[in-house]
Amino acid sequence: MIKKFTVFFLISGLFALNNNLFGISESNKSHFNPTINKKEQEYDLIYNIEPFYEIKKVRFAVTLEFRGDKSGETKILLPGNFGGKNNYEGIKFLKPLSENTSIINTDNPEQKIIKHPSGEPVKLYYQVEEIRNDNVELGNHYLTILNKTYFHFLGETFFVFPAWDWYSNYKILITWNHMPYTWSLANSFGINEKIQSISVSLDQLSSSLFMGGDFRIIKRNVDNNPVYLSIRGRWNFSDDQLLDIIKDIISIERNFWNDHEFPYYIISVIPIEGRGEQGGISRTNAYALFLTPDRIIDYRLKRIIAHETFHIWLGEKIKFSEPEALSFWFKEGFSDYYARLLLLRANLITQDEYVEEYNKILYAYFTSSVRDEKNERVVKEFWTNQNIMKLPYMRGDIIAHNLNAIIYKNSRGSKNLDNLMLDLFKRSKTESLTVSNGSLSALIRFYAGEQALADIMKCLNSGASLKSHPEALGPCYELEIESFRKLWLIGELYEIPSYKLKSTNKSNNKKCLEWFGVK
Ligand SMILES: [Zn+2]
Repeated sequence: MIKKFTVFFLISGLFALNNNLFGISESNKSHFNPTINKKEQEYDLIYNIEPFYEIKKVRFAVTLEFRGDKSGETKILLPGNFGGKNNYEGIKFLKPLSENTSIINTDNPEQKIIKHPSGEPVKLYYQVEEIRNDNVELGNHYLTILNKTYFHFLGETFFVFPAWDWYSNYKILITWNHMPYTWSLANSFGINEKIQSISVSLDQLSSSLFMGGDFRIIKRNVDNNPVYLSIRGRWNFSDDQLLDIIKDIISIERNFWNDHEFPYYIISVIPIEGRGEQGGISRTNAYALFLTPDRIIDYRLKRIIAHETFHIWLGEKIKFSEPEALSFWFKEGFSDYYARLLLLRANLITQDEYVEEYNKILYAYFTSSVRDEKNERVVKEFWTNQNIMKLPYMRGDIIAHNLNAIIYKNSRGSKNLDNLMLDLFKRSKTESLTVSNGSLSALIRFYAGEQALADIMKCLNSGASLKSHPEALGPCYELEIESFRKLWLIGELYEIPSYKLKSTNKSNNKKCLEWFGVK
């Protein structure tokens, strides 16, 4: 795995530093001296962004500079299909500004060829326009938002990139010109910085988050590292209440992974149309939350924050092999399992809430019309079929509970699922291990044994129903199975497991909580 890291400095501080700090190898990268830069510093990519006003709308005018390939041709990538729309439709007036440069269309509207003098600097111009016709709502929430009050965009819906190696680090300069002086500016790489000098991969820039306008920005420290909340709109909770919850969740998750390498982190919150809805997406040094204004700080909101935060590790720091959807049961289901578990450990939910919510998942899984579908179908229909989309979340949640109980039993109480997860994280760092059903199988076999692995694979490969482990919630709970038919007397027979507190126990007593790792 290519080592990726991000360094944040103001440009003034940058000049004093050695290039090696930025992971740039002078021998194999071509550089050029941009006109913008009067000092000796060199950049691989330079973006200048400024608002462009028309009577009815605002666009961003962007210039992009880089050194063209020695062959005299450089392929560029426009924003592609992301969030259910062709984002290249928002790229307008793309044209060359450098001399003797031309743009050739290809069969693919997301790719163009730039012809230019061999190895010379190339400068391109384009504008970005919001392509949404409706209000911002779930379904179109990943598209660039750009109006007279604010903007909010994901890197892959905005930037045109040269088609360079996606995972190498590049030195990139982003300058924000003529922004309204009342606007705040916040993104994956800093707060209120008009000139941003960063060293990131195109993958990281593509997965970044940018916003500006009428956002309120507040800050907390987690182990001396700043965590920012950038939020707009009116809510049923205060900005501080929300950020305190976020801070507690970030703190417990960093402690879980024993990972505190986070020099900077930001969460954006914007209101969307609708009732009772919420969405989130994990980003470089950030995640974005999209909430309807009626949302309150309840289990669902805490769960999505904890789930998105968990993806910092499961999905970003711990990489997945393609096709990733084959391992969604692990990525999404285990993130749901740990979201709930770590909320309990952080005292942000009660033990009763934990059990109630898990019982809801069991009910949903055991009455799901697609519960016996093979993993192959998940890969094919994940993004198009709502029922299929929910399946890996539920399967992974149940598998995680079962595995935890099996590992605990096999190790006579000395280990649980946490050990497997931390082992995976360690190996992803030291052995560049990526997650696939193959690499997971080896770990599961080692920690839980052959039978546990066989049961999981039977579910994924043949669609066999999972069974709930009787001791999945520890010594204080017992498993009950309720049978009923879909229609009275006839129809499909459902057998729904659920966990009930044993009559000899009271919830929240020390012994019961110990099982969940609550200290
Ligand atoms: Zn997720």
